Amino acid sequence: MKASILAVGGELLGTDRLDTNSLVLTEVLRRRGVELVSKAVVGDDVVEIAATLGALRERAELLLVTGGLGPTRDDLTREGLARLLGRSVAVDEALWGRIERGFRKLGRRIPRVNRKQAERVDGAEMLPNRAGVAPGQRIGDAAPSPRGTTYFLFPGVPRELKVLVDDALDPWLAARAEDGAGFDQVEVRVACLPESVVEERIVPVYERFGDRDVSVLARPGEIRLRLRAGGPAVSRTPRLARMEAAVRKALGGAVFYVGAIEDGIEFEAAVGDLLTARGETVAVAESCTGGQLGQRFTATAGSSAYFAGGFLTYSNHLKMRLLGVPRETLREHGAVSKPTVLAMASGARERCGSDYGIGISGVAGPGGGTEERPVGTVHIAVAGPAAAGSHFEARFPGDRARVRQLSTQFALELLRRMLLPGETGRDLLPWSAPRGEGSA
Ligand code: AMP
Ligand code: MG
Repeated sequence: MKASILAVGGELLGTDRLDTNSLVLTEVLRRRGVELVSKAVVGDDVVEIAATLGALRERAELLLVTGGLGPTRDDLTREGLARLLGRSVAVDEALWGRIERGFRKLGRRIPRVNRKQAERVDGAEMLPNRAGVAPGQRIGDAAPSPRGTTYFLFPGVPRELKVLVDDALDPWLAARAEDGAGFDQVEVRVACLPESVVEERIVPVYERFGDRDVSVLARPGEIRLRLRAGGPAVSRTPRLARMEAAVRKALGGAVFYVGAIEDGIEFEAAVGDLLTARGETVAVAESCTGGQLGQRFTATAGSSAYFAGGFLTYSNHLKMRLLGVPRETLREHGAVSKPTVLAMASGARERCGSDYGIGISGVAGPGGGTEERPVGTVHIAVAGPAAAGSHFEARFPGDRARVRQLSTQFALELLRRMLLPGETGRDLLPWSAPRGEGSA
């Protein structure tokens, strides 16, 4: 079975709205082993909708359509499909009765325009929508097409689409799935290694398993690898396990998550899990990141178990007053220096009574760079139970937002490396400043 996706909505042809629904549909097709051959986007126009569906059905027997099932005049998906199939569209009075009763239960008057959402393409089976008013519809096209196309119409509201995909599409696909058609997939998340370094290290994985089943997705300070194994379930499960083991071996401690894509945790949550497992806490002292590290820690529900709090010390005055950074340290070495961030980190740790303290100070730009400390120079330190503490001097690329984001990422990584026994921190070296102390 081959499938195509059509997203309907004039807003999707503009510059400010992205068709994200098709990604949800793509994922379920992938999981069920259905080949996706094309995607299209059209505006709210009956003729365009009919013509595009007509073209897509030439090459696919499953057409998934999202959008245009709302109550307004520009919601024309039903009409477009009916036009293509030469069928009628009429209000389903039983469905309309249910919609009316639903509104009345909520004590709301139902607007007349909502009658449109009870319209059904002749011959369609209605797909109940737990999350909204308009149901989805499934229509088989037995007559004119030799391929026997099936059309699914889904609401455009992303939350409703997801509910209908789970309730209607996924079970329908599951009932048709053939063993060996689909594939299993895991995601491996890697912190703070440049993409080129990841690529270099996983060469042995490519050599053993081929490069078709490994894809690399890069984002600032994080690389995600998707590993796939196809074929019958009995062989693909162990194959995927072998791929996973090979990738872990190649990347070592840089890996912070391996598992299903949908269960993937954010980096700050992974660091939080390590702290939780050890029953330890952390506090932060931030300068150039302006609270973003604290924001990241607290973005995870339950972070109060390990995140104590912190200091936003942008001025030298507050670095001294709130964290106890010695005046001489700031005068001799400057605010963006190893001694200053080490003092910030241990100040935060001591004053919050936490097990670890993190200090960050840097030049985020675009101004403020000097020859000695160009834009992108960021000093990060972690103070812990051991006397020495760890320090990293980075030279980050990119604009202000990127430098700040990478600073929080590497601060988390420096802490994580301290929490992992036997880690040396050599993985951070590709990012370190060319001169100076450099290593962690
Ligand atoms: P509709 O069912 O066309 O009335 O869509 C309702 C709302 O869902 C629209 O206003 C959009 O904000 C959103 N929406 C529609 N289609 C998509 C899509 N393909 N991806 C993401 N959001 C969408
Ligand atoms: Mg619309």
